Amino acid sequence: MKISDILSRKERVLSFEFFPPKKVENEHILFESIERLKRWNPDFVSVTYGAGGSTRDKTLDWTKKIKDDYLLNVMMHLTCIASTREGVINILKELKKSGIDNIFALRGDIPEELDNIEEAFKDFRYASDLVRLIREVDDSFSIGVAGYPEGHIECPNIGEDIENLKKKVDQGADFIITQLFFDNRYFYDYLDMLEKYCITLPVIAGIMPIINIKQVIKFTDMCGATVPEYLKNKMMDRSPEEMLNIGVDFATKQCRDLLENNVKGLHFYTLNRSRATINVLKNLNLD
Ligand SMILES: Cc1cc2nc3c(=O)[nH]c(=O)nc-3n(C[C@H](O)[C@H](O)[C@H](O)COP(=O)(O)OP(=O)(O)OC[C@H]3O[C@@H](n4cnc5c(N)ncnc54)[C@H](O)[C@@H]3O)c2cc1C
Repeated sequence: MKISDILSRKERVLSFEFFPPKKVENEHILFESIERLKRWNPDFVSVTYGAGGSTRDKTLDWTKKIKDDYLLNVMMHLTCIASTREGVINILKELKKSGIDNIFALRGDIPEELDNIEEAFKDFRYASDLVRLIREVDDSFSIGVAGYPEGHIECPNIGEDIENLKKKVDQGADFIITQLFFDNRYFYDYLDMLEKYCITLPVIAGIMPIINIKQVIKFTDMCGATVPEYLKNKMMDRSPEEMLNIGVDFATKQCRDLLENNVKGLHFYTLNRSRATINVLKNLNLD
């Protein structure tokens, strides 16, 4: 089912993001998480795409598997950096054949080990190029694109980043899912700025309940999201169970505030685990 149709019908949507496990022995963790999270009737779930190529084939397999075996509405992430036009067209055909209606169109991070940057940008330079190609090849897909409440890490300022987001919108994107953030003020300011730039697409908030502070600091350093100092301090030198409880409590308050302010959707970065997300959803009485 197209996410754009769901968004136009429903006041608010719920979604979960997974990644394809690299090792076969970790697959059962994902199976269990999907099984548990399915009970919350997500409007869709999404499967990330390895920009470096490592898990690319697995993404398509997992997307199909989740749709067919778990009967969930699925969105496949698709990055275009270092991809060819022909390769992307083949993936689009495969998605269509498999009855997958939703694509999250991304450029992907620039791989550090890349020798020839121009070669990587030969067919696609930005995510907007991918959105344009998808629309050209098959206009029936519902297309989501990434938005960055604190600005994208490569972009000198947020205004410029929003102008670039507008290019994805103009090429035919249907909705936006944000990078994770921990301070809702970034999100509300971002919504105000989008309005000023005449971007009226639905914006789904990316939420990551923290269960391990060191991992989150590493992750947010990579993507440029700010972890509040008081949260870092509160979590330092705590046991895993204590960190989980602090993280769940924080994410519950964050989501409650977003819901009170009519957020269009909550998209949980689950990291293939279900416990923290489920605890937040229970606290919010979203079951
Ligand atoms: C919800 C979400 C899910 C994600 N899933 C994945 C995933 O599955 N796999 C993965 O590898 N990565 C994923 N990412 C990370 C993403 O690939 C990186 O953030 C990447 O660095 C940028 O991708 P983008 O699609 O936002 O790129 P773009 O929209 O192309 O933007 C990249 C940079 O270029 C600038 N820019 C864009 N257009 C122009 C232009 N015309 N002129 C000048 N500058 C321009 C932008 O301001 C930005 O700084 C995800 C991010 C989010 C928020």
